[in-house]
Amino acid sequence: MYAAAFACVSGCPGQHALTDVIYRCPRCQGLLEVVHDADRLRARSAAAWMKLFDERWARTAWPYGSGVWGKREWVAPHVSDDNVVSLLEGGTNLLWAERYGQQIGLSDLWIKQCGTSHTGSFKDLGMTVLVSCVKQMIALGKPIRAVACASTGDTSAALAAYGAAAGIPVVVLLPEAKISAAQLVQPLANGAIVCSLATDFDGCMRVVQRLTEDPTIYLANSMNSLRVEGQKTIALEIVQQFDWEVPDWVLVPGGNLGNISAIAKGFAQLRELGLVDKLPRLVCCQATRANPLYRAWQRAQQGGHPLSAADFTPVAAATTLASAIQIGDPVSVGKAIAALVAFDGLVEQADESELAEAVARADRTGMFNCPHTGVALACLEKLVARGTIARDDRVIVISTAHGLKFTEFKTRYHEGTLGFPSHHANAPLRMGADPDQVLGELHRALDSRAG
Ligand SMILES: *Cc1c(COP(=O)(O)O)cnc(C)c1O
Ligand SMILES: [Zn+2]
Repeated sequence: MYAAAFACVSGCPGQHALTDVIYRCPRCQGLLEVVHDADRLRARSAAAWMKLFDERWARTAWPYGSGVWGKREWVAPHVSDDNVVSLLEGGTNLLWAERYGQQIGLSDLWIKQCGTSHTGSFKDLGMTVLVSCVKQMIALGKPIRAVACASTGDTSAALAAYGAAAGIPVVVLLPEAKISAAQLVQPLANGAIVCSLATDFDGCMRVVQRLTEDPTIYLANSMNSLRVEGQKTIALEIVQQFDWEVPDWVLVPGGNLGNISAIAKGFAQLRELGLVDKLPRLVCCQATRANPLYRAWQRAQQGGHPLSAADFTPVAAATTLASAIQIGDPVSVGKAIAALVAFDGLVEQADESELAEAVARADRTGMFNCPHTGVALACLEKLVARGTIARDDRVIVISTAHGLKFTEFKTRYHEGTLGFPSHHANAPLRMGADPDQVLGELHRALDSRAG
């Protein structure tokens, strides 16, 4: 049997069952991570894993049609078929951004469209694992009454959907007036108990940690490393979609920093099990208004030393359009710093105008990006302009949510009401219903675009 357990990220001795209610190391209070029995996984050759994963990819045999459960032995081997709670997440499109790439000077740019998913964000990948584990725990007789999270919008939407699919009660804590209308209506529609708190995300996080000291309320935030196991399949999918080749760069927007850690863990596991022999360089992309990791990175650069935990101090995050990464005190900062060091990584930032313009430029080439993906695209544009990323490097940008969850932001951009100039604003042409007038207006509009 394949086996996995929780262990302390800092290496304290001892392991804990994945069905135990435990989020932190009892010795040092640090985060836990899921460790797999590597010898058991190595008993199958790299070639055999590739063949198995390719055979399962996007097929109907339960639960392997899910991009996450198609890799179940590497993710959560203890969950039985009956307890898998899947909405067929993963398996998302890897889009060749040909026109946008040309415009910014890249020939091999790809967007991993993780937001094309059941609840419209990549949080589904981790949540299928967490909720399935909870279902397994309940089947084993653990007295869990509800699953709870603090959220900047997408985690709560994913938890509410997977909880509803499993029939498990969900509690979500949201910072009042800091998430989009679509993000708020998702947990409401899925029947979660929605608590709107007069604080920011970091405040909600403090409350949920206190609530989940009650062992009947299970914590679903990414400090629970079960989520990381699902999110790491992003790395596995990217490599699989390139016929088991590793790209040069992977850029991801970062807030609580669980995802950059997860992506690193996925690539590291691929290398450990011999499916690949190199690692990509990782770029963590932060909003300037919520940039504690970028500040730590700058401190390290100025000091001429490698990035370390000592460079980091939390900040109070200011309001940003990239609301899902408006986090000043990221829970997974230690894991993220370790990942950046191991992957020769970088941290970059983008301000409000830069992220909005990058979204608009890329949307003009057929995408429909969320503001967080915009942060990653704006950082990419800077790194290309600076020559850090070379013209023919293979680059992957993780698109983390669907643009349709953020229509207020896009509407305001195109109305020109975001408080800075919208250089690619596209307002509707208002006219009567006279066909000749419409035709005349059309030609005028086409002329101005040609000109
Ligand atoms: C959660 C989220 C992120 C950032 O992930 P972290 O693990 O918090 O760094 C980025 N974009 C979107 C849309 C998200 O929902
Ligand atoms: Zn420890």
